[in-house]
Amino acid sequence: MPDALPLSPATLVVSSGRPARTQAAPVNPPIVLSSTYVSQGEVPDGELFYARADTETWHPFEQTLGALERSTRPALLFGSGMAAIAAALSLVPPGGRVVAPRHAYNVTLVHAQDLAARSGLEVVPVDIDDTDAVVAAVQGDGTPAAMLWVESPTNPMLEVADVPALVEAAHAVGALVAVDNTFATPLGQRPLTLGADVVVHSVTKYLAGHSDVVLGAALADDPAVHTALRRHRTVHGAIAGPTEAWLALRGLRTLALRVERSQANAAEIARRLAAHPGIAQVRHPSLPDDPGHARAAAQMDGFGSIIGLRPRGGVAAAEALVAAVRLWVPATSLGGVESSLERRRRFPLETVTVPEDLLRLSVGIEDVEDLWRDLAQALDAATSG
Ligand SMILES: *Cc1c(COP(=O)(O)O)cnc(C)c1O
Repeated sequence: MPDALPLSPATLVVSSGRPARTQAAPVNPPIVLSSTYVSQGEVPDGELFYARADTETWHPFEQTLGALERSTRPALLFGSGMAAIAAALSLVPPGGRVVAPRHAYNVTLVHAQDLAARSGLEVVPVDIDDTDAVVAAVQGDGTPAAMLWVESPTNPMLEVADVPALVEAAHAVGALVAVDNTFATPLGQRPLTLGADVVVHSVTKYLAGHSDVVLGAALADDPAVHTALRRHRTVHGAIAGPTEAWLALRGLRTLALRVERSQANAAEIARRLAAHPGIAQVRHPSLPDDPGHARAAAQMDGFGSIIGLRPRGGVAAAEALVAAVRLWVPATSLGGVESSLERRRRFPLETVTVPEDLLRLSVGIEDVEDLWRDLAQALDAATSG
């Protein structure tokens, strides 16, 4: 079977999670639309009985993502990235301290603050690229952290964390390490192999890749942690519909091609932006003088496809740029085949230390010259006046 061979990720995304190769079998797994299963008496572990607990249309995606993240267990599919994040944060006991990036995905921080208000959980924001500061926060003042939350690169500031060093410091005080791997994808980094305990994804983004589903996933090697995440999914009902799961698997089949192309586009566009007179600041880990460059080069495969951009002229110029693009789509979200952009601080809940004029660009798989022409004309229109 292909799954038993040590296949490269570019092959795994294509070959994993296929039905058994029997004569006249379909090449793709079927979508099974059934809320319940024929069942009586005791239910052995792993047997299907009700589709909130488990359903077979999840399995091919879960197996494939598990293999990509080099987990010993299948991924757990959730109804959204936030549902997977909520499951991961539920591992923190009441009153526990969570050290988290100041510039983590804003709704992750909102959820953690809600938990803080209800259960006494304490959130300690840190600059995740400042390793000494994160280690000090994890060690605490007599009360070590219960969990270190990591995003690398961060959304939307693109800070790069020293993941192996942070994992070591967290484990030294008994803290769990959870990594939101949405930006890097498992092709860019595999946090479980760097010692992380939990990995979460917004499958909505690169993994599904076509801006047509909202889904999430969580992974853990440890059986007790895996069981706790799964239990959270079942009792909260934070589940994916079979059709969405099937679409996510179809999207995942082209992940390697999409990531290769969008990363190459992003690096080229970042390089041109850095030389453009209308730009005050550009961040992409591929740029040799980016603060995250050396770390990303050492610990990631590729630099991702998200660019942070501050045009000259502040908020007005940023808004004018978004209004002036014709090919790039003004929209939130990221990781689709189409290039998109937005000013993050238009959302009242975005972290206040994110600059008001920061644009987050999600670079897609279009022709790079078309993307550049559109961006350059929008920049000229927005910053010339
Ligand atoms: C979008 C996103 C999420 C939330 O995922 P949803 O699928 O929208 O619930 C979490 N983390 C990161 C880094 C994201 O970009």
